[in-house]
Amino acid sequence: MNDKVRVRFAPSPTGPLHIGGVRTALYNYLFARQNGGTMILRIEDTDQTRFVPGAEQYIIEALTWLGIEFDEGVHVGGPYGPYRQSDRKSMYRQYAEQLLRDGYAYYAFDRPEALESKRKEYEAQKKTFQYDCTSRGSMENSLTLPADEVQRRLDAGEPYVVRFKFPENLDITVHDLIRGDVTMSSNLLDDKVLFKSDGMPTYHLANIVDDHTMAVSHVIRGEEWLPSAPLHVMLYKAFGWESTMPQFAHLPLLLKPEGNGKLSKRDGDRLGFPVFPLDWHDPKTGELSSGYREQGYLPEAVVNILALLGWNPGTEQEILSMDELIKLFSIEHISKSGAKFNVEKAKWFNHEYMQKLSDEAVAEMFQPQLKAHGIEAEHDYVVKVCGMMKERITFPSELWDTCCYFFKAPDSYDPAAIKKRWKPGMTTHMAKVIEILNTVPFEYDAIHKALLDDYIVGNQLNMGQIMNSFRLAVVGKTVGPDMLTLVMTIGRDETISRVQRAIDTIGEMKDVQ
Ligand code: GLU
Repeated sequence: MNDKVRVRFAPSPTGPLHIGGVRTALYNYLFARQNGGTMILRIEDTDQTRFVPGAEQYIIEALTWLGIEFDEGVHVGGPYGPYRQSDRKSMYRQYAEQLLRDGYAYYAFDRPEALESKRKEYEAQKKTFQYDCTSRGSMENSLTLPADEVQRRLDAGEPYVVRFKFPENLDITVHDLIRGDVTMSSNLLDDKVLFKSDGMPTYHLANIVDDHTMAVSHVIRGEEWLPSAPLHVMLYKAFGWESTMPQFAHLPLLLKPEGNGKLSKRDGDRLGFPVFPLDWHDPKTGELSSGYREQGYLPEAVVNILALLGWNPGTEQEILSMDELIKLFSIEHISKSGAKFNVEKAKWFNHEYMQKLSDEAVAEMFQPQLKAHGIEAEHDYVVKVCGMMKERITFPSELWDTCCYFFKAPDSYDPAAIKKRWKPGMTTHMAKVIEILNTVPFEYDAIHKALLDDYIVGNQLNMGQIMNSFRLAVVGKTVGPDMLTLVMTIGRDETISRVQRAIDTIGEMKDVQ
């Protein structure tokens, strides 16, 4: 066992990082930080056919945005580098050769056409072909060919692969920290390719060699890798590295909101939420996949959302900062079953985190929108409005629609509200509003007394109708904060001018009906 905690996040740069992958990185990070351990970023790019330019940078940018930091890795270096598998290429051959020499692996020369025709042959018998202990005896490999023939082919530079030789009738047990012992029979497992004649290892060989040589203590990764774990355990044994084999924890899948099946990009598109941390422009198709960041999610909210998808602190507490998560995280509290993504809950988290932002920070987010609408407002005024209104928003993009009337007079009035509120005689009431604003001290209590208590209540008028018409005149709709607070914020002159405009625009027309 490795006594020092060293964990790695080991993505393949095949496209944007799915939020399931982000959650894997987060759990590794929490575990590392909690244990004073080391967090490593290793790029697993052995499959060159799936390599996508820009994906590595995307992964780094996304994790940096979320505050998931690395102690060693492709972007920060470290004593166990290089941290990109293509840069470690020359290391792997010796390990493949060790397995061949010790009888744990064999050369296979079968051409793609030969494998294809085998597959067809099996299909015709309603069976599925697998290169394994039942079929390898009838294939072209170093188990079936004479040694000199094998050598001749190697010398002639014939393409080959090195396959792991699973022993027959062996129960292989993987101890998983979340699931306990998981046992699989070797008879069901195929002889996976470990190495190719072009000198490239496959994921399985590179992953094990790297985890060993980087002294990784715990492998925390998605459940989709559980079927590979018996091979990985067998490789540790074959190399003689069993005593320092990492401990495994396979995380439950992130499921569709309905609960059946893995959360996909299509679910995100269908239900209107991102499944990627940042926007991603596919370099081949140009297609845009939207990200949490660009949709206005705050990184702290995304971390909180993901932390609770498959793990719980054992209490009802839902709002958890990174520091709290680091303290509370435990592998024992990771669930075995998949975690359903809940869009409404995700929005709730973002709303909660918006409230935690300072009014200044919200104002900062609002500035570009104000600018886009040609508004130049004083900084302190914007801060004040944001402080008053942030409780009403989930995403920063909603700021303009929610707050625009603090910055400009309405250019139209909601017809339904006119119909419902602006009853005959309203012009007179609004003129009275102007008169009061012009005569009483411009203070909340004074206006309240003069308008609401003395004029409306004192004359037994309809409070709802007058105040909502007043609101309609100032806002254009019947939404917004407390009316007098709004008046105090936009100021006397602006209020009076808006009410006058409403009288002129809708007043008489309605009054004569
Ligand atoms: N490269 C693998 C992936 O993309 C890593 C699996 C592992 O963590 O072992 O998920």
